[in-house]
Amino acid sequence: METKILGTDKESIELAGRILAQGGLVAFPTETVYGLGGSAFNPESVRNIYEAKGRPSDNPLIVHIAALDTLPELAEDISDKAKALIHAFMPGPFTIILKKSGLIPDEVTAGMDTVAIRFPVNETAQKLIKAAGVPIAAPSANLSGKPSPTRAKHVIDDMTGRIPAIIDGGGCAVGVESTIVDASEEIPVLLRPGGITYEMIADVVPDAVIDPHILQSLTDGEKPPCPGMKYKHYSPDAEVTVIEGSMKAVKEEIDKKLKENADKICGVLTMSDNAYDSAVILHGGMTNKEYAKNLFDCLRKFDELGVEIVYAEFENRDGYGLAIKNRLYKSAAHRVIYV
Ligand code: AMP
Ligand code: MG
Repeated sequence: METKILGTDKESIELAGRILAQGGLVAFPTETVYGLGGSAFNPESVRNIYEAKGRPSDNPLIVHIAALDTLPELAEDISDKAKALIHAFMPGPFTIILKKSGLIPDEVTAGMDTVAIRFPVNETAQKLIKAAGVPIAAPSANLSGKPSPTRAKHVIDDMTGRIPAIIDGGGCAVGVESTIVDASEEIPVLLRPGGITYEMIADVVPDAVIDPHILQSLTDGEKPPCPGMKYKHYSPDAEVTVIEGSMKAVKEEIDKKLKENADKICGVLTMSDNAYDSAVILHGGMTNKEYAKNLFDCLRKFDELGVEIVYAEFENRDGYGLAIKNRLYKSAAHRVIYV
């Protein structure tokens, strides 16, 4: 299949909207990561999304809308707490789980009776959803298991030949996937941390809780509260280890590790101005927010550079820390050294 690379001009958005309306797939930019969209009302489009990504079919998708007035036809029993969260964080890098309506095909929700809904703030995403005239089911536009795409290049690398069109809208502002809150029951639960932090959520709904699986791996046979938690995620080819603590102690530990692995091609992902000899250094950023934005891009770059072992500096500096830790720990298969 030929994959068209489109811009964000009016004609391109109209063409992409037509592709979606006719059941085709389009990868598009959002403020979090690039999404791989198909009509949420078309079961075949949705099946094609799973196929293009190589995604297990029991891991449900997020339905993207471009106006809040479409919510009542997609979800039922929206509680006052859910309404408060919607009012506070939509549009934005935020996904809410609600009881689903009969209009949502089972393919979207992997048979669950709840649906994940997001209203992106990114202008191109909004224009595209409006042009399609239907809600858009979209997971991240990477091959299943790879780091999420935060630049069009990442999508082109993973999806060329697999989908009809990719919209190049430049780099993503947030760089990690949306915050997910399950508001389908009495107590809202943070299932995935992101650009909307737990502190921001608790300001609106003080009884909201954090699901403990966010920073832990599942034990054998344990059923996760969100299907996505059980899959291998964000795994670059390189073996990643997180070194967490004050930047001085982190440097000492990484220097030691680099000496021990002098026969390997090593890389260091930094969030300081620490310098390291004989390693490929990529800088994530000085704040947790910058680090989140650059994380997936850096992981992909290490692979391109043939790096075999990556040491990732990490220090929890602000409310974004939880979102980074969640991705970093997974990309490191929970190899974390606290110093
Ligand atoms: P992605 O689109 O790649 O960011 O993945 C979407 C995430 O949303 C996955 O981790 C899913 O497991 C999660 N998700 C989607 N729908 C639901 C739902 N109804 N209940 C719980 N989690 C969901
Ligand atoms: Mg994903």
